[in-house]
Amino acid sequence: MNTLLKDYYTSLHIDERVFDYCQKIEDSLKDRFAAIDAICEINQMKVIKAMQDNRLAEAHFAGSSGYGYTDDGRDALERIYADVFHTEDALVRSQITCGTHAICTALFGNLRPRDELLAISGKPYDTMDEIIGLRPSPGSLAEYGVTYAQVDLTPEGEFDFEGIRNAINEHTKLVEIQRSKGYAVRPTLSCEKIGEVITFVKSIRPDIICMVDNCYGEFVQDKEPTDYGADLIAGSLIKNPGGGLAPIGGYICGKKEYVENAAYRLTTPGLGKEVGASLNNTKAFTQGLFMAPSVTASALKGAIFAANVYENLGFKTVPNKTEDRFDIIQAVELQTPERVVAFCEGIQAAAPVDSYVKPVPWDMPGYDSPVIMAAGAFVSGSSIELSADAPMREPYAVYFQGGLTYQHAKFGIVMTLQKMVENNLIVW
Ligand SMILES: *Cc1c(COP(=O)(O)O)cnc(C)c1O
Repeated sequence: MNTLLKDYYTSLHIDERVFDYCQKIEDSLKDRFAAIDAICEINQMKVIKAMQDNRLAEAHFAGSSGYGYTDDGRDALERIYADVFHTEDALVRSQITCGTHAICTALFGNLRPRDELLAISGKPYDTMDEIIGLRPSPGSLAEYGVTYAQVDLTPEGEFDFEGIRNAINEHTKLVEIQRSKGYAVRPTLSCEKIGEVITFVKSIRPDIICMVDNCYGEFVQDKEPTDYGADLIAGSLIKNPGGGLAPIGGYICGKKEYVENAAYRLTTPGLGKEVGASLNNTKAFTQGLFMAPSVTASALKGAIFAANVYENLGFKTVPNKTEDRFDIIQAVELQTPERVVAFCEGIQAAAPVDSYVKPVPWDMPGYDSPVIMAAGAFVSGSSIELSADAPMREPYAVYFQGGLTYQHAKFGIVMTLQKMVENNLIVW
C-alpha cells in the first residue's frame, strides 16, 4: 500500500526502518488529527464568511501606490480581519514590518507619559526588552515616561491573580498578556485562561486596556482572545495568519479607539488609517488568510507528530505528546550538541528551498551562546514555514515550528531522525 510513498522516501535517502517507525507513529495519531481538522473547519468557515459578508471581489486585488488614499482592497481586508477576530476594527498593513513592530505600534499608540504598562504573563518576548526599556534603548517607552511593572506566572504556569490585584494602581493603563510561550519554559495560555484573567482585571478597573500578543496562536483554537474580552490583539503576517503567502506585514485588531490610536502611531496623528498604500500585497494577504486555518492545522499536526516521534525514543518534549496545544511551537530536549546539529540538518535537508545548505551554529548578535537555525523558506525568516532553531547550550533543546503542509512537516521530522540514525546519535 505504501510502496510508492516508501519509494519516494527511499529516493530522498530515508532508511526503511526510519520510515516504518514514523509511519507507525503517524497511524497512532488519527484521532488527534481529526480533532485538529474539526477546529480547522470552523476557522475556515469563519474566514470564508467574513470574506463573503464583506463582498471580497477581484477588483480588491488591484493594489495602490503613493499615499494609498481610498485603497478599497486594503480597507476590505481590514474589515475582514475585524470580522474574523470579532472586533470593531483592524489595522493590517505591509508597513507593519513584523510582529514586534505590530505590538510596539499598539503599545506606543495607546500609552502616554506617566501611564504604566503591566505585563501579567511574566517577562514578554525578548524583542520587547528594548521597546519597554528593560534594556536601555533610544526611543523606548521608558524614555517617554511610560513605566513598566510585571507579574510572573505561578510556578505551575497559572496567572497570579493576587499578584495582579496588588500590581494594578491608578497609573495602570494597559495589561499585556502573551498567549504563546515563545521561547520561554512555561505552558502556552489557552484563550479560556486568558479570558478568565481579563474578566478579573476588568472587575478591578474596567477601563484598563487588555492587550494580547497573539503571535503563533491564531487559528490554533476555534476562538481567539478577542472572543474572551481582549481589547487589542497583535501579531505577524509571516506567522499563522499570513498562511505562508504574505511576504511581509502585521496586524492589530480590537476596539475602534485603540486600533485608531495604533494607526496614528503607525502613520501620523491626523492621517491614521487613511494612508498606507497596499502596493501589490492585498491578494497575498487575503489568500494567505484564506489558507491560514489549514496551514496552522498542518503545523500543529507536524508538532504533534514530532513530539510523538521523539518522546517514544525517550526524549523530553514540550508540550508532550498527549497535551492540548495552544500554539504551534514544539521543543525537544536532545541533550547533546551533536543531536541538535543533526536535527537542524534534517529540517534543512527536507526543505523545498536551500535544501543543499548545511546549517552551522554561529555567534548571533544579542545571544549569549551560539545559535543554530534551519530554514528553507519561500519567505525569508517566515516561521510558519518549517523551521528549527536552538541555542547551543544545556539542555540542548531544539525549537521547531511551522510547515505549510503536514506532509512537508512530517518529511522534515523523518529527516531529522534519519540524520540521528546516520550519525549514531540514538540507540533504538
Ligand atoms: C514571533 C513573536 C514575536 C515577534 O514577532 P517578530 O515577527 O519576530 O517580530 C512576539 N511575540 C511572540 C510570542 C512571538 O512568537
